[in-house]
Amino acid sequence: MDVVILYDVVILGSGPAGLTAAIYTSRAGLKTLVVAGMLWGGQLMLTQEVENFPGFEKGILGPKLMEEMRKQAERFGAEIILETATSADLKSKPFKVTAGNKTYEGKSVIIATGASAKWLGLESETRLRGKGVSVCATCDAPFFRNKKVVVVGGGDTAMEEALVLSRFASEVKVIHRRDKLRACKCLREKAFANPKITFVWNRIVQDILGKDRVEGVRLKRVDSGEETILSCDAVFLAIGHKPNTEIFNNQIELDQTGYVVARDDTKTNIEGVFVAGDVADYRYRQAIAAAGSGCKAALDAEKYLELI
Ligand code: NAP
Repeated sequence: MDVVILYDVVILGSGPAGLTAAIYTSRAGLKTLVVAGMLWGGQLMLTQEVENFPGFEKGILGPKLMEEMRKQAERFGAEIILETATSADLKSKPFKVTAGNKTYEGKSVIIATGASAKWLGLESETRLRGKGVSVCATCDAPFFRNKKVVVVGGGDTAMEEALVLSRFASEVKVIHRRDKLRACKCLREKAFANPKITFVWNRIVQDILGKDRVEGVRLKRVDSGEETILSCDAVFLAIGHKPNTEIFNNQIELDQTGYVVARDDTKTNIEGVFVAGDVADYRYRQAIAAAGSGCKAALDAEKYLELI
């Protein structure tokens, strides 16, 4: 039978928040486990150039940045397992987390499970996923060289996706449900200046067309209800994210949209359970903000462990 090891800190998630927390707790001599997920590293693993993380004058690739953070945490002794946590018991102490058929115990827990891309909820979208439907231009844009693609959404992610796609596709149409973009001025201007990118305003995607691969989208005007068909080879969805908190339902206080409710920065409603990064932050959602909150959660966990 497996011996259950008691960790000082169990960290769930391995994006900038989780790994920064792990660097701090392990360096402080706390026995640290990171339940990293099968696809470790979080959203920066799906990014190319990161230009706004301080310390890299010329920018750094997202996966490279995460690899460095992981090695830094491991250098101080953090144990990292590439398993996804499937359940958590935060109601009794020590806290318990199950991942990959094993249960791990922690005197404290840091939740840093991040947020995932949202989908439109269409049957066709699920059926054609990987056959022209994608949520990651960095991953899939090279498959659509000289093809016509659409991007759905009007935020920063949509502009970034459109810009990445414009390096490969012959034309990129951004479909937005309003006539104003939510994206920041800098990204908006880049997209407007790009000759391959055009905008289809006030439309929602009713359906994605195609049997074995994407052939087009059926659009509906939000004001008149008029329907049109736009032919394209791929659909990239960029309509926001949802927090990864399913395993904490009925365990910890979540807000209406599923984000962990943080009080006093990193504390949750359960003493000894802390939160960091996008799983509690729908406002900033930046790697550097997540890393900063990972640091705070680690220091708060350290203080908590000194007192118990
Ligand atoms: P977002 O800001 O929430 O934008 C989502 C977009 O999708 C909005 O334009 C929204 O329309 C649209 N949308 C949402 N649900 C939809 C639906 N069901 N059907 C059609 N359209 C829908 O999400 P995001 O772009 O992923 O950005 C998230 C956060 O990360 C933001 O804070 C952003 O600033 C940040 N971010 C920053 C960078 C950067 O600095 N380089 C890059 C990426 C993301 P409405 O506008 O009508 O609501």
